[in-house]
Amino acid sequence: MATQATKQQMAEAVAAIRANMAAAARAAGRDPAEVLLCAACKTRTVEEVRESAALDIDLFGENHVQELVEKTDAGAYLGKPGHFIGHLQTNKVNKVVGRAAMIESVDSQRLLDKIEAAAARLGVTQDILIEINIGDEESKSGVSPDALWALADAAEAATHLRLRGLMAIPPADAAPDETRAFFAQMRTLLIRLQERHYAAALPDTLSMGMSGDYQAAIREGATIVRIGTAIYGARDYGARG
Ligand SMILES: *Cc1c(COP(=O)(O)O)cnc(C)c1O
Repeated sequence: MATQATKQQMAEAVAAIRANMAAAARAAGRDPAEVLLCAACKTRTVEEVRESAALDIDLFGENHVQELVEKTDAGAYLGKPGHFIGHLQTNKVNKVVGRAAMIESVDSQRLLDKIEAAAARLGVTQDILIEINIGDEESKSGVSPDALWALADAAEAATHLRLRGLMAIPPADAAPDETRAFFAQMRTLLIRLQERHYAAALPDTLSMGMSGDYQAAIREGATIVRIGTAIYGARDYGARG
């Protein structure tokens, strides 16, 4: 069984990540304050997440609806925002809309319609990102870059959604220079999205980069990096699923 990271281990890890994030931002001529640290806390316990929330983490990312519900109900984020970053099944949308500050992983018209309907029912505006399958992988969710524009137009037409930008997970087996090229393609897509002059909100968010590649992502324009292992240690899927 994987052991939980101690408070001290998490504090040292977050400090090191923050230093790396700032260095990567400065190397790209960017202000380090532009880049948010999302702790990807799937499989982590409420206590572990609560301890980490006292650290210099900006927001939390959940992949599973049940964990989002459990941790928000327990106040585990200490008032910091929670984002939904996993594949969202349409039958679970009602539990996420209004609870997640942002749904980063919108990847179909059907899901978008369900989120709009749920947000309308609650009378809230839901921030979303569109997930791009940037490596064109069969096993990954996300839309192709070509399919982005129709989905973005639909988000703009919806009255209870605010399209804030894009999210991606490049192929895990890509070489570092390939990964960097995928990140650069994402930045280009975001710029093209901005050029469409949507009225609801300026899409300014680029969520990309994980434990192994967040510095490259920041150099290519990431505004949110989602980091799990480098903060909490290796995951134990056996314990939580
Ligand atoms: C788990 C996860 C991460 C973090 O991955 P690490 O390699 O542990 O940093 C980031 N984004 C998503 C969508 C994830 O599911």
